[in-house]
Amino acid sequence: MTILPIFIPHLGCPFKCVYCNQQLITKSKIPYQEDIKNRIEKFCNNNPDNEKEVAFFGGTFTNLSKKKQQEFFDSVNLFKNKISGIRISTRPDSINQDILSFCKQNNVKTVELGIQSFNDEVLKASKRGYNSNIAIQACYLIQEFKFKLGVQLMPGLPKFSKKTLKQTIQTTIDINPDFVRIYPTIILASTELEKWYLKGKFHPLELNDAIKIVSEMIQQFEGHKIKVIKVGLHSDIDDRNIVAGPYHQSFGELVRGEILLKKIIDNFENRTLMISVAHISLFKGFNSRMLNSLKTQLNLDKIPMIIGNDLDKDNFLFTEQPAQEYW
Ligand code: SF4
Repeated sequence: MTILPIFIPHLGCPFKCVYCNQQLITKSKIPYQEDIKNRIEKFCNNNPDNEKEVAFFGGTFTNLSKKKQQEFFDSVNLFKNKISGIRISTRPDSINQDILSFCKQNNVKTVELGIQSFNDEVLKASKRGYNSNIAIQACYLIQEFKFKLGVQLMPGLPKFSKKTLKQTIQTTIDINPDFVRIYPTIILASTELEKWYLKGKFHPLELNDAIKIVSEMIQQFEGHKIKVIKVGLHSDIDDRNIVAGPYHQSFGELVRGEILLKKIIDNFENRTLMISVAHISLFKGFNSRMLNSLKTQLNLDKIPMIIGNDLDKDNFLFTEQPAQEYW
């Protein structure tokens, strides 16, 4: 699926959430309908054969007036025969039967909900304005209407703990959405969270903890056949706008390394380790972070290695073959 994202920063939002600054994240202004049409036309021309969706991100789409929603829908649906459908992101408290019927009539195929946590304490402390029950009911209603459901989660919000993480993971698994996005909480400039942080009222996750938490979430979700399509904020946010928190330009790679590390340790045999070419950068990247962690956890000075050119990119194995190199 190829997606054309159209950002509508904060449009439709009932208020500005404590951690959110869409202007910094999306670097976009609210687009004119003409501009949207031009972008979709170009998108269709550039991707003639792929399955395509046009997505409205960065605001609360279903909280816009119906007139405004209709304008956006109409701009996209001019290209109805060239795209598979429309994707919207919204809040769980801006979902009901009437809203979803309207979306259905207008070629919406996927609804993404910014839920962030399924724990009431976290939702309250983060001033999200709804509770977990509302979030759960919104998910089920979207599924009843046969939309594809995406759930966005933010570990590390105020009152986040192992317990709230467990509850959020389990509730997500019970709901069984089509996909999940995971954004560890970052403190962005000009947010309420920044003020709380500067007053010492809020402490974000450390990078290493965030990597471990997100890798745990991915393993649990993927173990239940729930796809994780994105982790971490994108990599081109200006550093000056990140006040604190577990932001890393290659956060996704670090998480992939952590997951591989855990699998290798869980299946460890005292023989030569064969990895795929695709995994070399995970082992050696970021100052050999993963390799060093593996050696420390296995209490080894050197690891006998073979690069398996024919090995599937996500596989590794232990073999009796002599090592090509010692890492
Ligand atoms: S988190 Fe979502 S609802 Fe809250 S201000 Fe940002 S875009 Fe709007």
